Amino acid sequence: MASQAEKTVSHCIALLREAGLRVTPQRTDIIRLMAGRARRYSVQEVHRSLSKKHPGLSLDTVYRTLNTLARLDIVSRVNLQNTEVVQYEFQDPEHHHHHAICMECGKSICLDECPLPAAFFDSLRRMKFKPEHHAFEVYGRCAACA
Ligand SMILES: [Zn+2]
Ligand SMILES: [Zn+2]
Ligand SMILES: [Zn+2]
Repeated sequence: MASQAEKTVSHCIALLREAGLRVTPQRTDIIRLMAGRARRYSVQEVHRSLSKKHPGLSLDTVYRTLNTLARLDIVSRVNLQNTEVVQYEFQDPEHHHHHAICMECGKSICLDECPLPAAFFDSLRRMKFKPEHHAFEVYGRCAACA
């Protein structure tokens, strides 16, 4: 029987196919590395973890792949304002969410829900705008730094 992690990986691969994207061994391994793990990865960390298996893999490819996965809501980008420390977190595509970032210590907290109401998306549709993805973060101070 396939494990939960394998099921999640196959689900994400199906999403790539649906979006008309090629399912390359590199893309599959990036998903496999991150799937189901609560920890966050920087572009460099993902690159370091996979460069043995994929010697031709460039940092740029990892960066572009992570942004593609972010567009599909497979990973979410954390710390949008500071591109030097941007990190990526695996996100169950069924559980889209946002983050609160502490400006003192850099800690980021997962928020339970998306604050955008359905009415907001309805109004976009009325303008014939097709929303595919959005980004939203709250900046402030965490409990330890307050
Ligand atoms: Zn803090
Ligand atoms: Zn999160
Ligand atoms: Zn949202």
